Amino acid sequence: MIVMRHGATTEELDRVVAVIKEMGYQARPMPGAQRTAVGLVGNDGRVDASRLEGLPGVQEVIQVTKPYKQVSREWQAENTVVRLGGGVAVGGTDVIAIAGPCSVESEKQIIESAAKVREAGAVILRGGAWKPRSSPYSFQGLGRPALKLLAKARDETGLLICTEAMDPEGLNWVAELADIIQIGARNMQNFSLLKAAGRSKKPVLLKRGMSATIEELLLSAEYLLAEGNHDVILCERGIRGFDTATRNVFDLTAIPVVHKLSHLPIIADPSHGTGLREKVIPMARAAVAAGADGIMVEVHPDPTAALSDGAQSLFPEQFAQLMQEVRVIADVIGRRMAEPAPVGA
Ligand code: PEP
Ligand code: MN
Repeated sequence: MIVMRHGATTEELDRVVAVIKEMGYQARPMPGAQRTAVGLVGNDGRVDASRLEGLPGVQEVIQVTKPYKQVSREWQAENTVVRLGGGVAVGGTDVIAIAGPCSVESEKQIIESAAKVREAGAVILRGGAWKPRSSPYSFQGLGRPALKLLAKARDETGLLICTEAMDPEGLNWVAELADIIQIGARNMQNFSLLKAAGRSKKPVLLKRGMSATIEELLLSAEYLLAEGNHDVILCERGIRGFDTATRNVFDLTAIPVVHKLSHLPIIADPSHGTGLREKVIPMARAAVAAGADGIMVEVHPDPTAALSDGAQSLFPEQFAQLMQEVRVIADVIGRRMAEPAPVGA
């Protein structure tokens, strides 16, 4: 809806109407006591408001319909259930646990991590091959060899693999191997990466940018759906705030908000959300209680020796305890924690 300034001239109004028509929509002027508004009808969710905002006589452009389309609940009323291999599904009754180290560091470390998180009840193993680090001097990940190690961990444990692609080139390697391609917070608005992931045939885990609004998160997901990939899982991982007590502000409200606005599943990452080991457990419990379709938790066989994010990584025993607790919480809200398939199944 285009709101005209008080005292806008007829010529200015006519111009707005003409531009709307030129853009391929219908214009419905609505004269009011103080000012006139013009409704833009036929909006398919992709209107570029900037063309109208700058016209003389225009006060503001108010988005009545959402700027995203295919990710919205209006577009699809029922929940999207992302079906992964091995009977694991995200977005249905089951709540899934993705767990593992921040980065793949060595064969021993990732195999041991996989065995431990599986034993506790995780169905998906995480671990970065390429790491988006704030400092270029921090551990950057092992790169392609890490993908081989993840494949080995999958072969040995039956866990599915979720790992991050940082750029369109690396995406092809990740897509070849991973069961879920992770797009990290820093890349949420890397539109060429989103387009490439949208064209891949693998499910995508899209993490919320650290200063992104929920609307921006959904618009980034729209890129994936617009390219034909409907297997999209969103992830709340905390946003930047002013308080230094935690690494990020873990925005749990995003869970019910996204569930209302979109049919896509959303999981929660309390590890990056809080940055502190002892805060991960209560916030993971809270995320399940809030209705998250899954949790992503960093777990390391020896967090004190981790090459990245050790301070927020759980000890395997802590993760096992957490899994016991979230099973009870899931049950209370009519859901259940997905269990790994029995060995050899
Ligand atoms: C990660 O999951 O390893 C990661 C880097 O997370 P984020 O993109 O949310 O910072
Ligand atoms: Mn990490």
